[in-house]
Amino acid sequence: MTFTGRLGSSSRPVRIAVIGAGPSGFYAAGALLQQKDNHVSIDLFDRLPTPYGLVRYGVAPDHQKIKSVTRIYERTMKDSRVRYFGNVDLGSDVSHADLKSHYDQIVYAVGAQSDKRLGIPGEDLAGSFSATEFVAWYNGHPDFRHFDFDLSVESVAVIGVGNVAMDVTRILAKSVSELETTDITDYALEELRDSNVKRIHIFARRGPVQAKFTNPEIKELGELEIADVIVNPADLVLDQASQAEMEGDRTARRNLETLQELAGRGATGKPKQIIFHFLRSPTEITGESGAVSAITTEKNALQETESGYIACRGIGTYAEYDVGLVFRSIGYRGIPIPGVPFYDRWGIIPNEKGRVTVEHGGAVVPGEYTVGWAKRGPTGVIGTNKPDAVETVRLMMEDVNNAAASLPGIPVARGNSGPHTDGHGRPGDIIPLLKKRGVDFVSFADWQILEQIENERGALRGQPRVKITDVDEMLRLIQSAKVEPVLP
Ligand code: NAP
Repeated sequence: MTFTGRLGSSSRPVRIAVIGAGPSGFYAAGALLQQKDNHVSIDLFDRLPTPYGLVRYGVAPDHQKIKSVTRIYERTMKDSRVRYFGNVDLGSDVSHADLKSHYDQIVYAVGAQSDKRLGIPGEDLAGSFSATEFVAWYNGHPDFRHFDFDLSVESVAVIGVGNVAMDVTRILAKSVSELETTDITDYALEELRDSNVKRIHIFARRGPVQAKFTNPEIKELGELEIADVIVNPADLVLDQASQAEMEGDRTARRNLETLQELAGRGATGKPKQIIFHFLRSPTEITGESGAVSAITTEKNALQETESGYIACRGIGTYAEYDVGLVFRSIGYRGIPIPGVPFYDRWGIIPNEKGRVTVEHGGAVVPGEYTVGWAKRGPTGVIGTNKPDAVETVRLMMEDVNNAAASLPGIPVARGNSGPHTDGHGRPGDIIPLLKKRGVDFVSFADWQILEQIENERGALRGQPRVKITDVDEMLRLIQSAKVEPVLP
C-alpha cells in the first residue's frame, strides 16, 4: 500500500462523512471548512432528497425569516470540498461498517427524530398525536404527508409550553388568510380552511415562570386575527421560589408581563380561544369508540428541590376537559442508529463534548463524533448548533493531529471491515458503492432543481415556495429536468 502523505495534508485530506443535513450538519461542515489545522473533504448525507432538516420540516411556515438561515448553508455547499448526498439512508442504503471503511471520521448530525411520551392511559387512542407529527405534516415531511388530523372537532389539547407548543397552537388558531402566504403545504391549508377548532387548551405542568416558550412566541399569540388568549389571573400569582427564579431570568420576566397583559385583555369575542391552564398535568386521555373524547388533568403544586429546580407534584384535584384531539408537545428525543451507541435515558448518542462514547460516561469510540440535538438533546434554537459544532470539530482536528503525529500516513479509524482504499492509502470514494447498490442519490445541484421548481410555483401564488412532499415526485422532477434542463 502506498501512503500519499500525512493525514490532513493536501495530498491526503481527512475524509469525513456528516450524517444529517439539518442545521447541525451544516454547521459541522462549515466549521470543518473554516478550521486551518487540516485539509478535509466532506460528504454530507441526508436520508431525504431535500437538505436543511428542521429548517424545512420543523420551523413554522409563518416564520419565514428564520428559514433564511439556509443562505449560510448554501455558501457552505459552494465550497468544492463538500459534496451533498441526499436520499441516502444510513441503515438501508449504507451501513455503519460502510462508513467506517470509506471515511476517516463520521459525524452524526441526526437530530432527535422521535418524541417523548407522557406515559398515561389513553395516549395511543386515535386523535392523540405528538406535536412533532403535526408539525412534520403541515410542513410537508414526506413521511408524514399521509397523516390524518380530524380538525372537525371543536376543542383540542396541547400538552407542554415550549416553542413547539406555541407553533402548533398558532397554526391551529390562525385564519386561512394569515396562512396562505406562507409555505404551509396545500393539503394542510385545505384541512385548516375547513377546521372547526374553536378552543385550544394549553396545559402547563408548572407555573408561568417555568414556561419554556420565548418572548416573541407568546407575544405572537396575542396578535392573532381570529383568536383570543385566555389566561386566568390567579395562575399568575407567584409562589416565593418562582418569584426568586423570575428575578434572575429576563425571558421569564417578559413572558410574565405578556401573560399579565393577556389576562387583563381577556376574551374580546374572536371566534377562537387559546386557553392557558398552568399547574395542570394530564393523567388520562379517554375515548369514545377508540377516539379521543376527553383529557383528565391533575392540579399541581410547585416544590423547590435541593438543587434549586422548581418541580411540580399532583395535589389530588382533578378536572376533565372535552377535547377531540391531543397534541403532546413535551419534547423530542433521538432514535438509535444500527451500529451506533445510544443512551436511551436521554435519547441521545452518548458523547464527551462531541466524541462518541461506547456508553454514557464510557470510553471514546475512535473516529466517531456527534453534533446538535443528537449530541446534547433537543434544546436551543438553530444558532445554538453553531458553537456546538465548533466544539466537536475542534476535538475532531485534535484527534487527527494526534493520530498523524503518532502514526504519520496512517488513517485515523478503520472499521471491522478493514480499510477500503483507492490504492493510494486513501479511503475509497463512496459513489461506486452507492451506484453498485442502485441508490438514487441526489446531489446539491439536483436539489437546486427542485428548489427552483418550488420557488417558481410559489411565486405564481404569492407564497415563498410550494413544497413538493413526495419523494418519488422529487426524483421524477430531478430526472426530467436533467433531460430537459430548467436551470439557466
Ligand atoms: P421544550 O422547550 O423542552 O418544551 C417542552 C415542554 O413540555 C415544557 O413546557 C415541559 O415542561 C413540558 N413537559 C415535558 N414533559 C412533560 C410531561 N411529562 N408532562 C407535561 N409537560 C411536560 O421543547 P419543545 O417545545 O419541543 O422545543 C424544543 C426546542 O426547539 C426548544 O429549545 C425550543 O426553544 C426550540 N424551538 C424554537 C422555536 C423558535 O425559535 N421559534 C420553535 C420551535 C422550537 P417542564 O418545563 O416542566 O419540563
